Amino acid sequence: MLTGGPASTGGVNRGPFLADVGVVGAGPVGLAIAWRCAARGLRVVVHDPAPGSGASHVAAGMLSPVAEAYFGERELTGLLAESAARWPGFAAELTEASGADLGYRTDGTLVVGLTADDLAEARRLWAYQQGLGLPITALRPSQLRDREPALAPRLRGGAVAPGDHQVDPRRLVAALRTAARRAGATLLPGAVTALGEVAAPVVVVAAGCGTAALTGLPVRPVKGQVLRLRAPGGGAPGFRHVIRGYADGESVYLVPRAGGEVVVGATVEERTDTEVTAGAVLRLLRAAVDLVPELAEYDLAEASAGLRPGTPDNAPIIGALPGRPGVLAATGHHRHGIVLTPVTADLVAELIVTGTPDPLLAPFRPDRFAGPAGHPVTQEETWN
Ligand SMILES: Cc1cc2nc3c(=O)[nH]c(=O)nc-3n(C[C@H](O)[C@H](O)[C@H](O)COP(=O)(O)OP(=O)(O)OC[C@H]3O[C@@H](n4cnc5c(N)ncnc54)[C@H](O)[C@@H]3O)c2cc1C
Repeated sequence: MLTGGPASTGGVNRGPFLADVGVVGAGPVGLAIAWRCAARGLRVVVHDPAPGSGASHVAAGMLSPVAEAYFGERELTGLLAESAARWPGFAAELTEASGADLGYRTDGTLVVGLTADDLAEARRLWAYQQGLGLPITALRPSQLRDREPALAPRLRGGAVAPGDHQVDPRRLVAALRTAARRAGATLLPGAVTALGEVAAPVVVVAAGCGTAALTGLPVRPVKGQVLRLRAPGGGAPGFRHVIRGYADGESVYLVPRAGGEVVVGATVEERTDTEVTAGAVLRLLRAAVDLVPELAEYDLAEASAGLRPGTPDNAPIIGALPGRPGVLAATGHHRHGIVLTPVTADLVAELIVTGTPDPLLAPFRPDRFAGPAGHPVTQEETWN
């Protein structure tokens, strides 16, 4: 890749190695890269002591390029939109390659406000999103309840983002494992403690929150607590859309799955532990029931916490590491690793095969955090 090489594998120089590409981390990002690389004829080895046990295990799986378009994050918003546009094709290909149901749903997302203040907060953001030309349309309370009768009658209003979809991240990871294996990739159990242990000319670090220790990149854990409820009697939830909103100042989202599960999330905490706290459960449940009262009758099936791989500018880090020939990063996807999986995998595989980064990657290069010596700055340096 970085050194140039035989034409059969584009830019990869095979050298004496048994693998062309070593991927560190079998979360959605690492597995999708492994699948895409193996499908292009590269010999791929993936290292992970506990595949799928990172942030993706608790993630809600919202594919929200519109509702997640925040002030001051225009480049990230562009990448989210690009990846969301790839999702229908990616889901179809992955379903075909794995034979698995991903729980991919295209019912759209409603953004709602419980009180007048909540609605004002929601409207402030969707006005910004509309200003970017993104598809989000205001709805009156009666129009919201026409779409979702389960919504609380006292909601003050909201909007619909029809292109914001969802997938089940646990199913996604299982399908990616199958697809990667069928394409010829090998999964090796075990943690990588230093990149020199990976016997391949190209090493992709996709280790989520494990990335900082391996590379010095400023990826820090951002804790998120979520609940999983289950509709009574084994039925489907009483609503189809993803519902995001504010309830008395509390931000919450509700993600209904066909099998009866509703994911309720999530806290955003600058913490490194994965304990579930009573206060978080209380706030999430209160906000959820405020928006959809019938949730009070659902079973509380699971309460869990995960660590998002956050970065100083909330955007992912994708590309060659300065001063580390043959080492690429595909990490720091923070709140968006599920929606960003297709574009990350496509562009990293392309970079490995051709040796040339797609212009889409320019704002997300690792060297945007490079220190004076050209090496990534450490976590401590950027936190302070
Ligand atoms: C509460 C919560 C809700 C979320 N909701 C959404 C959402 O709705 N939509 C969305 O797009 N994103 C969401 N996310 C974010 C998303 O889960 C992450 O961005 C995504 O999982 C990142 O994928 P990844 O493969 O880079 O890392 P991870 O999923 O964290 O996986 C990293 C993998 O690397 C492995 N690993 C770590 N260190 C090493 C090592 N040294 N050697 C080998 N392997 C190693 C781990 O075992 C793990 O399997 C959410 C996250 C949280 C916590």
